[in-house]
Amino acid sequence: MNAFEQHESSVRSYCRSFPVVFQQARGAELITRDGQRYIDFLAGAGTLNYGHNHPLLKQALLDYIESDGLTHGLDMYSAAKESFLETFHRLILKPRGMADYLMQFTGPTGTNAVEAALKLARKVTGRSNVISFTNGFHGCSIGALAATGNQHHRGAAGTGLSDVSRMPYANYFGDQVNTIAMIDKLLDDPSSGIDKPAAVIVEVVQGEGGLNVASAEWMRKLERLCRKHDMLLIVDDIQAGCGRTGSFFSFEKMGIQPDLITLSKSLSGYGLPFAMLLLRKQLDQWQPGEHNGTFRGNNHAFVTAAAALEHFWQDDSFAASVRAKGQRIAERMQRIVRRHGPDSLQLKGRGMMLGIGCPDGDIAAAICRHAFAHGLVIETSGAHSEVVKCLCPLVISDEQIDKAMDILDAAFAAVLSAQTATQAS
Ligand SMILES: *Cc1c(COP(=O)(O)O)cnc(C)c1O
Repeated sequence: MNAFEQHESSVRSYCRSFPVVFQQARGAELITRDGQRYIDFLAGAGTLNYGHNHPLLKQALLDYIESDGLTHGLDMYSAAKESFLETFHRLILKPRGMADYLMQFTGPTGTNAVEAALKLARKVTGRSNVISFTNGFHGCSIGALAATGNQHHRGAAGTGLSDVSRMPYANYFGDQVNTIAMIDKLLDDPSSGIDKPAAVIVEVVQGEGGLNVASAEWMRKLERLCRKHDMLLIVDDIQAGCGRTGSFFSFEKMGIQPDLITLSKSLSGYGLPFAMLLLRKQLDQWQPGEHNGTFRGNNHAFVTAAAALEHFWQDDSFAASVRAKGQRIAERMQRIVRRHGPDSLQLKGRGMMLGIGCPDGDIAAAICRHAFAHGLVIETSGAHSEVVKCLCPLVISDEQIDKAMDILDAAFAAVLSAQTATQAS
């Protein structure tokens, strides 16, 4: 029995799919203690958009530590925070017509940014109910968990998960059903049993929920619905944001203006814990310290996040490269679908947030196991864990993409031909 099995709680999860000891990581590559190399298509579930240990970000952090820059300072003014605030405003908010959004640093996990968003929406509107969507994932602390769909996570709450009305996500009933009209009718009907909501919380691409995609049209209708019924629009961009879909925010160019936006995962750029809530100025009705926390704003993350913004987000060239690489991966995935299951497999997602929907979770798990045995770390998502999900670093090279897609192709071939053989016998 190893130290992990002996001493670590059985709540551990990802390690069960990849039972090796990783020691080093660079770019899109993970290296074990024994020197075995893997291409990383999990990338911290979307936390490592700029890869592992990016040399420029590492240097910025080393310089900061070397100069005895503040590591912890509660939420006091620090030079590192000042520099992040100015950089994020200049390179992200201002060029996108979002200059009037304020930044709130919450506790360093995604779920805490979601808690802050829900809390603020309820405080500002004086209402408790919130609309969230089927297959949505927003975190595992109680408030965010109430908005999360996944039964496995919800089941562990041990307490009531209340004040959320679940509604069908875009295309939940297929292309032909307009789920916005459905929600509109429920909200118009004083006897529908849906209490008037404070807000709607939504992912533009559902990361954990199986890479379901909301169209720009659906998002615009959702925003109109929010305005009509006086609900705040919260976009949870924790996984789909920071460039993953081919633009900094997942909703860019959709013509919407969310009231609240949550960011975390890749925001630090370096895999450091860091979360932020963006809020429209008029919603900033917090009393000082009302949403508190010891680790609000991680100074090391301020440093690496600002360095990442300076390096990757001066213009559109990085986002364009993400779109091109996404195209390359999508084409290879489309070929896998055509080759191994034109009727049973399905390409899902957007940008570099892509995956292949399989007939069931057992098949998807077998494909991931086969891929891991051949040097690719890749995981599943979806209601039945049936989507083989590609979340590789956005800085991955074309050669690494091609190599990973070869491994994936072989895994689909091996698992699905074994499947066909079993069915035939
Ligand atoms: C990961 C994730 C969260 C929760 O973030 P944690 O840091 O795990 O608490 C919330 N929303 C979305 C969309 C996520 O992908």
